[in-house]
Amino acid sequence: YAKEHGGDDVCWYNDEINHESIDSLQLETELREAISAKQFVPYYQPKVTLESGAIAGFEALVRWQHPTRGLLQPKDFIEAIIKHKLSFDLFCQMAVQIAEQLRIWESMNFTQHVCINADAAEFSHIEFFDFVTNLFTHHSIQPHQLHIEVTESSLMLRHASVKQQLIALKELGVCLSLDDFGTGYASLSYLQEYPFDFIKIDKSFIDKIVNNRTQSAIVKAILDLATALDMSAVAEGIETEQQRDLLLQMGCEYGQGYWFGRPVSADIATKMLSHASLPDARFN
Ligand code: C2E
Ligand code: MG
Ligand code: MG
Ligand code: MG
Repeated sequence: YAKEHGGDDVCWYNDEINHESIDSLQLETELREAISAKQFVPYYQPKVTLESGAIAGFEALVRWQHPTRGLLQPKDFIEAIIKHKLSFDLFCQMAVQIAEQLRIWESMNFTQHVCINADAAEFSHIEFFDFVTNLFTHHSIQPHQLHIEVTESSLMLRHASVKQQLIALKELGVCLSLDDFGTGYASLSYLQEYPFDFIKIDKSFIDKIVNNRTQSAIVKAILDLATALDMSAVAEGIETEQQRDLLLQMGCEYGQGYWFGRPVSADIATKMLSHASLPDARFN
């Protein structure tokens, strides 16, 4: 059996492995269908200026409106999207909806930006740069209204041309964020190598800052580094008022987290904007 399928080694397939590969094939088909049926939608989580509580922008986080299984979270499908090389298609689907939303918000005089998450592999896609430039002209939005977030772990794979693409995006006027900062192996070298505007401090550091002196010292050092490099810092995963207060005291400019608001549909995000700020967790 293994030989027929191109393997040289003798190996035994058990039922479980066969089921897994069938599942994976079904998932790939299902993902492709979901892309054509436009089942992926952005949910919006506020990014707040800590000092004032005002909404500076939103992060768009993908949700899959599955026809039978309800609203699915990235952990259920993002890995498969990347594995099956569908992340550029996902990016396009998200970006178009975000651009339309930015137009709507602009017509209501809301000038907040939206951050889109990207896997670094997408930048190597031959149509990536044209797609982004066309997006701006087609929807008449300004490049600075869109921010792109890239995780350290996706940069680690060092896909060809990522650096040139990031520089080109930056020259176009797009803001760049380094996501999940501190979780990779070479966090500092990424800061030197790529033109990031924002450092997003990973939630795992924020979780323990209140009672752990080591954790708060690390966060303080990251904040000082951001200042020295002329970048802005965003703290991820703020869940309590104490965390917010401490981060503000330490000089962190922006924050995100359930304490300010969870990711919500475009309609609810619009309602949030209609309030001037988020002084408490009333949208949770
Ligand atoms: P991320 O970009 O680091 O996004 C932050 C994640 O933390 C989001 O999970 C968000 O809902 C969650 N979060 C925010 N505040 C809190 C908090 O206070 N407490 C807790 N426990 N969690 C919080 P989500 O939406 O499940 O997304 C997970 C990851 O999936 C994202 O991490 C991002 O890496 C990836 N992702 C999401 N949307 C996209 C997309 O459109 N494209 C790509 N390539 N990746 C995406
Ligand atoms: Mg992100
Ligand atoms: Mg993150
Ligand atoms: Mg993360």
